[in-house]
Amino acid sequence: RAYLDWNATAPLHEAARAAVLAALDAGNPSSVHAEGREARALVERARAEVAAAVGATPRQIVFTSGATEANALALTPAIETADDAAPRDGLVVSAIEHPSVLRGHRFGALPVETAAVDRAGVVEVAAVEGALARLAEKGCRRPLVSVMLANNETGVIQPVAGIAERVHAAGGLVHVDAVQALGRIPLDVRALDADLVTLSSHKAGGPKGAGALVLGPRISHLAAPLIAGGGQERGVRAGTEAVPAIAGFGAAAAAAVASLPAAAARMSGLRTRLAEGLHRIAPFAVELGAEAPRLPNTLAVALAGLAAETAVIAFDLNGVAISAGSACSSGKVAASPVVAAMGFPELAGSTLRFSVGPATTEAEIDRAIGVWQTVVGALANRQGKAA
Ligand code: PMP
Repeated sequence: RAYLDWNATAPLHEAARAAVLAALDAGNPSSVHAEGREARALVERARAEVAAAVGATPRQIVFTSGATEANALALTPAIETADDAAPRDGLVVSAIEHPSVLRGHRFGALPVETAAVDRAGVVEVAAVEGALARLAEKGCRRPLVSVMLANNETGVIQPVAGIAERVHAAGGLVHVDAVQALGRIPLDVRALDADLVTLSSHKAGGPKGAGALVLGPRISHLAAPLIAGGGQERGVRAGTEAVPAIAGFGAAAAAAVASLPAAAARMSGLRTRLAEGLHRIAPFAVELGAEAPRLPNTLAVALAGLAAETAVIAFDLNGVAISAGSACSSGKVAASPVVAAMGFPELAGSTLRFSVGPATTEAEIDRAIGVWQTVVGALANRQGKAA
């Protein structure tokens, strides 16, 4: 089979597998005895590894169950900064955020504005400024802005550092969902100057069940934990730490970063091979986001008239795992809201996402190109009959 759906989840990295297995039997990290201290050491080692992978200090890392939880934890009005304990009074989200941001935020009845995306898949700084201006008209003075670093469907990299500069100048704070960036492009939370950064273990070769929220230097406290209890993770996320998942996350993060930039060059070469192969067969197919800076591993291809849901099944039956738009919404293959937001509503149900990883082979790429030939041939056949 060919697995070309790394943006949905990456295969478990060998180093992560070893770390998970070694931690399965761990004690409770909060226990004072030797067994507890050993478990604590595993968690703190992983914290240091994740921190180092993103240019943070271990103290800045809050472990969660995954990125969905980290996004929900971050997107609350109850964020205290060193010089301002008053709550955030409005939210800006980009139009292409993951559902765990769009539906998972905790702003309730407070104003929420959307920053538009352009046809290249980029959330321009000006779009965020426009959304901030609309919030300001509603009297908001302490906005929180959530813009992802790289889109999960198109791979397009967003101008987060420029956005952060504008938002901070306007008295706001910035949350960045960096889930798809880890291990694919250099990720430095200091350079981004973000206040809250979301990471996910299983997108970077770690096991499912772990993620992290990175608290930037401006953040002194999140006053609205999702899970209260024993005060673990700086009192922000209670519950006995998932030691095996966290240990695997740390190992995966370290391995992912160690293999950049060689892995990026490899993924980019495979992506080019795939894009060229697909275009040879269907010259009218559109490569979404190709004009913008993109992750090296992601290829979103739209073909007018193609039923993406059916195509995904055809690929699967022929041994190729890919996805159509939002694979993350539990089994549903719906039209892609990201493609629609980019201004191509007619292609939202006709877009396929191919995503590769460092372990992808040329044989897998060629297999996908072969299936594409069949899928495009069948479409041409149907359209010929219809004409
Ligand atoms: N954000 C983005 C950009 C994602 O792609 C995903 C996974 N589809 C998530 C958040 C949610 O991650 P998790 O599976 O760790 O909850």
